[in-house]
Amino acid sequence: MSLIVQKYGGSSVADAVSIKRVAKRIVETRKAGNEVVVVVSAMGDMTDELVDLATEVAPLPSGRELDMLLTAGERISMSLLAMAIKSMGFEARSYTGSQAGMATDAHHGSARIVEVNPTRIREALDAGAVAIVAGFQGFNRGTGDITTLGRGGSDTTAVALAAALGAKVCEIYTDVDGVFTADPRIVPTARKLARITSEEMLELAAAGAKVLYIRAVEYGRRHGVTIHVRSSFNNNEGTLVVNPEDGETVEEGMIAGIAVDLGEAKITVVGVPDVPGKAAEIFTIVAGTEANIDMIVQNVSAADTGLTDISFTLPMADGARVMQTLLGAKKKVGFDSLQYDDQVAKLALVGAGMRTSSGISAKLFTALYEAGINIEMISTSEIRISVVTRADSVEDAVRAVHTAFELDGDELAVVHAGTGR
Ligand code: ASP
Ligand code: MG
Repeated sequence: MSLIVQKYGGSSVADAVSIKRVAKRIVETRKAGNEVVVVVSAMGDMTDELVDLATEVAPLPSGRELDMLLTAGERISMSLLAMAIKSMGFEARSYTGSQAGMATDAHHGSARIVEVNPTRIREALDAGAVAIVAGFQGFNRGTGDITTLGRGGSDTTAVALAAALGAKVCEIYTDVDGVFTADPRIVPTARKLARITSEEMLELAAAGAKVLYIRAVEYGRRHGVTIHVRSSFNNNEGTLVVNPEDGETVEEGMIAGIAVDLGEAKITVVGVPDVPGKAAEIFTIVAGTEANIDMIVQNVSAADTGLTDISFTLPMADGARVMQTLLGAKKKVGFDSLQYDDQVAKLALVGAGMRTSSGISAKLFTALYEAGINIEMISTSEIRISVVTRADSVEDAVRAVHTAFELDGDELAVVHAGTGR
């Protein structure tokens, strides 16, 4: 008997009809002789709606209470799903994150898993039941409080349970057929990848691909969990995210895919004295705000003034905080002014084959030039090239780059629900 962990995203359990459809699928897996552990997200856009509701009653809701509220979303879907399975004549039991033994640190809104103790899940399986676990939540032993793992965290719950239970595979069910060469909502000719290395998946997720949550990919890589991303709307094989120790090679070509991130902003510190220590000063201040900065570009200083500009990107949500903090240090650092720009987008081209081939950047920049798109910033890693463009031209940019690297497939990709979760 194999143990399979299945995670269903919000779009797969959006209403009663979907919940019954998913229940049927789980029962099929059970009937095929597998032990099944299911992780669910909140129904449809419920988490967003709960966040909106919270900010209506309090502009800055307390982290503890917000976590308490948001975990309710997953509890609704887990219990409904258990009821649906039971009414089909199979045993099912639902569990909250804490009942499932997901111990986390105390960081409300973005807690990290510190230990998984799935005793009750194991017991449920031994009793022949399907175990259903509320995604994206845990508890902290020290405070005794409920926590959430951050938006999109149900993927992490599923991968962590798969690791703790020694599951054969962790299936992530979504509304598209797998991991594509680009978001099929932007590039309809995007191709589904049969396989992708966890290293490439990590880069794509970090660069804004929403199909898998980055911390889930990291966790899977560290614990050797095989992740299978597939659609809950059909029985097609999806995409296998393979780990190096699986010893399997991925021969999908040099480029795995293109990701887009519209959630970043760009801050430019104008007129920075070009003397040693200024970058250190500025980024120490930024680090103090706990913002995650990404690309950094420093210009050569103008010969007549000895002043330079430094630009960097960061999540839009951190923008106001960082601007305010930097402004407070203007005199001390000695720069002229700050510019804030949130009409930017980041495009990243990812592929393990980049290590061994040359001319990739030239091809990328040429494709953008031919599409009339201006590049504002560039950064690279061993297997990724990222560029910042205007937000309103990034979709054209992705399509141009997709075609230039011959990633277009023959068929149009099908998006079943539309939310991508
Ligand atoms: N419901 C949570 C969210 O929307 C967690 C998840 O879906 O993974 O972020
Ligand atoms: Mg959700």
